[in-house]
Amino acid sequence: MKIAVYPGSFDPITKGHIDILKNGAEIFDKVIIAVARNSEKNAFLTVDERVSLIKASVKDIENVEVDSFEGLTIEYAKKRNANVILRGLRAVSDFEYEMQLSQANSALSSEIKTIFMITKPKYNFISSSTIKEIYLNNGDISKFVPEPVYNFLKNKKK
Ligand code: ADP
Repeated sequence: MKIAVYPGSFDPITKGHIDILKNGAEIFDKVIIAVARNSEKNAFLTVDERVSLIKASVKDIENVEVDSFEGLTIEYAKKRNANVILRGLRAVSDFEYEMQLSQANSALSSEIKTIFMITKPKYNFISSSTIKEIYLNNGDISKFVPEPVYNFLKNKKK
């Protein structure tokens, strides 16, 4: 069984993340999307809010599990018997950071490979921080986030 862990802050989850996740779910037997608890500091949403919004957003994808973890991604991936860490790439600007991260992870544990997926051009500019900026300035984020996130933020006090 091929298991991939898709780690990140997902603060909040966007349509770009969902795109990568769906592709991953077609390739792997199971994808575990895991919110890093280390990202709680200075976060926009709590980890529990992020986890429940992800659950609501991916409920139709059968082989996806939603979880959160603390500490090193590679240790979490080992604990979950994952073969792969899945990451998304948008632009060249993501590349250097992602390359360092994947090389560090492979130095820590060579059995777990990092696989990168390139996002669709229409999701290229979407990041959680851009969404937050648009939302906090009363812009329309409906095109960029899954419906549960949109509804949650509509009702959240700014
Ligand atoms: P992190 O804080 O670990 O970078 P993010 O939640 O920002 O967490 O991103 C998680 C993963 O999703 C990363 O691999 C990131 O490159 C990828 N990602 C973020 N936004 C997009 C997008 N619009 N399209 C594709 N991948 C994305």
